[in-house]
Amino acid sequence: MTKPIQLISPVDGRVYAERMPLSMADAKAMARRARAAQPAWAARPLEERIALVKAGVAKLNEMKDLVVEELAWQMGRPTRFGGEFGGVNDRTSYMAEIAAETLAPTVVEASDRFERRIVREAVGVVLIVAPWNYPYLTTINTLVPALIAGNSVVLKHASQTLLVGERLADAFHAAGVPEDVFQNVVLDHGTTEALIGARAFNFVNFTGSVSGGYAIERAAAGTFTATGLELGGKDPGYVRADADLDAAVDSLMDGAMFNAGQCCCGIERIYVHESLYDAFVEKAVAWVKALKLGNPFEPETTLGPMANVRFARVVREQVAEAVAAGAKPLIDPALFPADDGGAYLAPQILVNVTHDMRVMKEESFGPVVGIMKVSGDEEAIGLMNDSPYGLTCSLWTEDAEAAAEIGARLETGTVYMNRCDYLDPALCWTGCKDTGRGAALSALGYMSVTRPKSYHLKKVTK
Ligand code: NAP
Repeated sequence: MTKPIQLISPVDGRVYAERMPLSMADAKAMARRARAAQPAWAARPLEERIALVKAGVAKLNEMKDLVVEELAWQMGRPTRFGGEFGGVNDRTSYMAEIAAETLAPTVVEASDRFERRIVREAVGVVLIVAPWNYPYLTTINTLVPALIAGNSVVLKHASQTLLVGERLADAFHAAGVPEDVFQNVVLDHGTTEALIGARAFNFVNFTGSVSGGYAIERAAAGTFTATGLELGGKDPGYVRADADLDAAVDSLMDGAMFNAGQCCCGIERIYVHESLYDAFVEKAVAWVKALKLGNPFEPETTLGPMANVRFARVVREQVAEAVAAGAKPLIDPALFPADDGGAYLAPQILVNVTHDMRVMKEESFGPVVGIMKVSGDEEAIGLMNDSPYGLTCSLWTEDAEAAAEIGARLETGTVYMNRCDYLDPALCWTGCKDTGRGAALSALGYMSVTRPKSYHLKKVTK
């Protein structure tokens, strides 16, 4: 028998929302409606689609108070941070701004004899499978270009953030995007995989765990359905001897702790040149001690609970294992009395760590960071690349040339210098190794939601 999907709030453990997933029959009917609605949507002028998408995001902005409150209940983010509106608005504006140029045909020849051009057509129906950690931003990354390019979109959001898809659908429908062009649905894994296997979608954007990525790839196998897989990370920071120490501590620790460390490009390991190591560690400890763990609705709370008790359990286990293997924890959990042994987890900094410890190799996705001393670039590059993941690397140096040279040797999707944990909508969001295979945002973000079509028209000459 089908069971409801429950959203357990990390704030107090209550069932905050529950929804019945679609039956297989209803899911298939939903997919048919998405397919049927797409051609008329694609036939509308590009400017009209852009205007409707921008209007949808404007409607979402009107719901800001509700969205911020619900985010706190659903995944624990402190309300003081005000949701994800800055990023949502910036990314929407940028993708809308570049749409006409990016989607314009490439004209190879327009002469008396031939018209030869490559146009980009919508792929058809796009499925977005979204995670809970940045539930609006991760959806917007694909939703906006997919709709602008003329696709219909089906959104299956994470069980932890069940209401996010509903808010997005409310906003876009209120703005005039037809209901069958953008559908938010509650689906269990089996039904999602079965729909993919039945070729219900032309492109699947999956953002989530590596194991989820494997499952989606398996579901799509043999169907020629294209997939964008934006998966986990274990992103490093490297502080060179010539770094601005205060700026490095401030940004890297924020990158490690913001959103309770639940950022795909959050900083999970830091390598510091031996000349700065002691000072870095001392300042990092002071930085973390200033955090306030607690109820996300309290205005002074800067660190909320993790989104789910089971996510906090993983971090606790990794830290305990590392400490048993010789790592030194620098933060006394007693400084954070809100730590309840469950979702509310005190932040931690570990030193004396090695790459034999899971906390330095596997994704933690929580408020913990390991710091290691390095002798220079060679050692740092080796350690940064010693990871199954490749999402971002953050280099701290005054020397842009050195950063470019180091960057060329890093197995990563993005190289930052003197910043971290930030997505620039004009740059491609991508990864390598087990971080998967995706290319979101930027002009390249339109490539996966469109397909090329060539026109080779020979004119009759009399
Ligand atoms: P997750 O457990 O893999 O879930 C992500 C989404 O996929 C959820 O909607 C989930 O649904 C769904 N899902 C998982 N397995 C599925 C399957 N077999 N069939 C259909 N749907 C499936 O990941 P998460 O815990 O929500 O997110 C955290 C992970 O996302 C971290 O590893 C993080 O690094 C990664 N992430 C990566 C990026 C990036 O840009 N590379 C961005 C953000 C997050 P349910 O919730 O219903 O299970």
